[in-house]
Formats: sequence, C-alpha cells, structure tokens
Amino acid sequence: MPELPEVETIKRGLEKSVVGKTISDFDCDWKKMINKPLTEYRKVIKGLKIEGMRRRAKMLIIDLQKDWHLLVHLKMTGQLVYASKIKCVVGGHRIAEGYQCLPNKFTHATITFSDNSRLFFNDIRKFGWMRLYTGLEVQKELENMKLGPEPLASEFTLEYLHTVMKKRPNNKIKQFLMDSKVVVGVGNIYSDEVCFYAKVKPMRKVKSLKENEIKLIYKAIRTILEASIKAQGTTFSDFRNADGEAGGYSAKLKAYGRYGEPCKVCKSEIKRWKMGGRSSSYCPKCQK
Ligand SMILES: [Zn+2]
Repeated sequence: MPELPEVETIKRGLEKSVVGKTISDFDCDWKKMINKPLTEYRKVIKGLKIEGMRRRAKMLIIDLQKDWHLLVHLKMTGQLVYASKIKCVVGGHRIAEGYQCLPNKFTHATITFSDNSRLFFNDIRKFGWMRLYTGLEVQKELENMKLGPEPLASEFTLEYLHTVMKKRPNNKIKQFLMDSKVVVGVGNIYSDEVCFYAKVKPMRKVKSLKENEIKLIYKAIRTILEASIKAQGTTFSDFRNADGEAGGYSAKLKAYGRYGEPCKVCKSEIKRWKMGGRSSSYCPKCQK
C-alpha cells in the first residue's frame, strides 16, 4: 500500500505532466471504481482542463475546470501511469508486467488528453477508486472521514499532539500513531520508525509517555516523513531507465520489516510484536 510519502511523490511527479491538459475522453471497465455511470463521467469531464492536483492523506485530488474534482485512492495495488510519446511517469504499486504495454490487463480507467497523451489507472486487486465530485461534495466527503492534520502542516503542533494523547491515554503507541484521526500518513512502516527514533516500545500505553518522549515522537513524525518524501523522489522515473523501483527511503529503515536482523545501532536482534493483524518491529534494547 502506498503510504503518504509515496502518494506525495506521485502527486509531484504527475502534476508537472497533467496540469493544464484538456481531457478529451474517459474510459472505465470497472463500475465499482467510479461513483456515477460512465456516460455521466464522459458528459461532465470531456473538454475540461486539469487545473491542479492536491493530496490529502493518501488521496489525490485532481481539480478540473467548472469546480469538478476527481478524488483518487490507489488503495492496496493501484498505480497511475502518465504516458505520452516522449515520456512515461509511473507512481504507486509496482506491477511486474511493466509499462511497455499500455493499456494492459490491469488498466481499469483511462483519461485521454487532447494531445493524445493518456493517464492510466492500473490496479491488480481493483480496490482503488476515482470518484467524481463537485467542490462541495469533495469537501463533505473529506469532512466525513474526520481526518487528523497533515503531519507536515502547521496545524500539527506539539500542543495538538498533547491534546489528542490526553483523550486516548490507554491506546498503545503504535495504534495511536496509525490512527488517521490523530494524524494522517503514519502507517505501519512509519509508526515503527517513529517508535525507534523516539526510543519507545510500540506496545506501551500513551499515558506512560514522559514529556521528553512525547517531544521525540513529535519530532520523529515530522523528520521521518519529510526525509521519506525527499527520498521517494526516485520512485518516479523516465520510461527509458524506468523500472518502478521502490523509493530510496527503504534502505534507511531502522525497524520496519527488520525482524530477526541486528539493530543498526546496538546490534541486538530486532523483535516482533503482533497487534491485531499487524506486526511491529522494534529493538528491545534501544527502545524503552
Ligand atoms: Zn538497538
């Protein structure tokens, strides 16, 4: 599942290619992916120009003329590929079939632009979606999700973190960090990394945190997500040398997925803790 830094990378990569382009056609072969009949999509978006692209949590918002918007979620296995005669921009889940042949059997929606370049939505498991809304509808939809602040936005302050922690004293730290109502974008990977950075075990309760640990958690969330957004720049590449490699941050991971391996700091064996269907990796010595 692409996490926040990856979706931000997709946004940055795609906006350079598609903003300013006019949509000449839309196609979709998977009804559940869209929220209106295909004929209505076509009627509404044909002829509209893409005015901008935004990200909220792990969703992309493609802003069209006349206050229409496409709200896009790649979910587990979604991938967006922009292809023109001269370039190919790929973001999201890696699909082994490659991009040489587009559309392919995983392509479920295609936006064609007036210059004949296209934006493909490929999805192996078909959980992703691309919903068409008016400005008011998209705003309502986002409000209903009751999402917490963006981790790198100015609303996400240390004071805010204190306030939400007081409301959830008995949450386990890992569960607390991964709750999108607390802060968006800290998924399974980054919650492990934040705990490692802050030197706290993921299974501890929020109320057990000392002041300096809370400060470190706050700092970790911002530092790690910022670094990861920078590193994920490598997910995007040119058609000729592209193979959709994983973002550059994977080599920097200190805890996530390293169960059984030696800690990069103290050499102790990284342990695993299971919470619900998820597992966490942590260093039993570095993390208190
Ligand atoms: Zn260690």
